[in-house]
Amino acid sequence: MNYTSTRDNTLNVSSGFAITGGISADGGLFVPTAIPKIDAAFLASLVPMTYIERARAVLSLYLTDFPKEELEADTQGAYGSGFAHPKTAPVVNLRDNVNILELWHGPTCAFKDMALQLLPYLLTGSAKRISGEKEIVILVATSGDTGKAALEGFKDVPGTRILVFFPNDGVSPMQKLQMTTQQGANVGVSAIYGNFDDAQTGVKKIFTDPAVKAKLAAHGMAFSSANSINWGRLAPQIVYYFSAYAEMVSMGQIAPGDKINVTVPTGNFGNILAAWYAKEMGLPVNKLICASNANDVLTEFLTTGHYDRKRPFHTTVSPSMDILISSNLERLLFHLCGGDSDEIRRLFGQLAETGEYTVGDDMQAKIKAAFSAGCCDDEATKRTIAETFKTHRYLCDTHTAVAVTVYDEYRKTTGDTTPTVIASTASPYKFSAAVLSALEGRDVSGLDGFAQLDRIEALTGVPAPAQLKALKNASPRFTGVCTKEEMEGAVYSLLGIR
Ligand SMILES: *Cc1c(COP(=O)(O)O)cnc(C)c1O
Repeated sequence: MNYTSTRDNTLNVSSGFAITGGISADGGLFVPTAIPKIDAAFLASLVPMTYIERARAVLSLYLTDFPKEELEADTQGAYGSGFAHPKTAPVVNLRDNVNILELWHGPTCAFKDMALQLLPYLLTGSAKRISGEKEIVILVATSGDTGKAALEGFKDVPGTRILVFFPNDGVSPMQKLQMTTQQGANVGVSAIYGNFDDAQTGVKKIFTDPAVKAKLAAHGMAFSSANSINWGRLAPQIVYYFSAYAEMVSMGQIAPGDKINVTVPTGNFGNILAAWYAKEMGLPVNKLICASNANDVLTEFLTTGHYDRKRPFHTTVSPSMDILISSNLERLLFHLCGGDSDEIRRLFGQLAETGEYTVGDDMQAKIKAAFSAGCCDDEATKRTIAETFKTHRYLCDTHTAVAVTVYDEYRKTTGDTTPTVIASTASPYKFSAAVLSALEGRDVSGLDGFAQLDRIEALTGVPAPAQLKALKNASPRFTGVCTKEEMEGAVYSLLGIR
């Protein structure tokens, strides 16, 4: 199984090369040259397995250059003791045939852990094979959850450094505290003035600048990426859709072979793209339902074929989805146009120049066949949190609530009652201000984050994760804020080089 670039389909590299490289030198993203297919027997074999075994079964189809024993050790290390739930990613029944896939039982309480607990293993393993003894510098732009999950994943991993940039006013107080208090000798964190797209654009620019690359090389260092553009982030995410299906079979929700719908709260299009790969591999999926908040660029694109980033940027109660440039969409479009990298260069060149593009009828038809899309505002999100708790005693975070809202609307308008799994991407305690104000129906900004957390616990009886409670006594290590233009300098300073 080899990989190519969305912007140069003549490229042909191993998964290890794609994972250590992060992004292709031509600016494109690494994609598999062919999507592996599974059959009914493969699917049936997953049902009695543990999450770790399922991860091995699915990942070995994609990471063919990894020795079997290495992949076994990697998955054991990633999904063993670091997760607070014995099933790693449990499926919980919400009502009738609607289920929640909880992806936030890892160390940072958001679904990013599902990939970022494994990525350091994949990255250091393949880097050893490919680039020898260079120190790997991980550069991350984050809308909140990735940063913390990457810091936790890479902290004190030998041979690596990790630097994280986050939008100063674009993350929740709890997320900010999680990052600025990060422990570890190889970590660096800086806020930037701007939004997530500014941070991501800045990181991409530094990452692909030959002069910066040369400077790092002179210090025995090389960049790699832990952003969701890295194939090593995407592959581990494919696993949990297979796992969810196997769980639904175990629960008696579906018979083997039955189709399911999958709803995903979406930002950078990584999580839902992993579900699309699972569908392409042969997982019986009817519709992929893409849920957005007020930043509805994907809703418009998936329903009309017109992508237009020239729209107001909204700061919402689901900040991890406050994104106008969904990078992973490039991978989907590459596959849908039959691997035509000229076409992808044309579309994304147009996006860079004019801020918009429109895909042709053929691609649009393929998108419509696989996807449905919807969006909702903060008010609807909060209403769903309150109603879901009142009616089903299930407490969901703001991102999950966006997905529940959009799913309910989908079911109402289409009448499609296919058994469904909704991806739950964060613990409700990570976004306690919005969750509490939804439950109480009033402004709670007078309370600090920890008072909010205590109050939610008292109101709902749902225990807060210990690692969030522990932040109360931690003091920030990283207090720097820089402009977009200062990011390159901040990298050198955090690395201690000039
Ligand atoms: C990152 C994130 C998302 C968005 O996922 P993408 O893969 O970027 O689409 C949704 N919810 C939460 C809580 C997240 O951290």
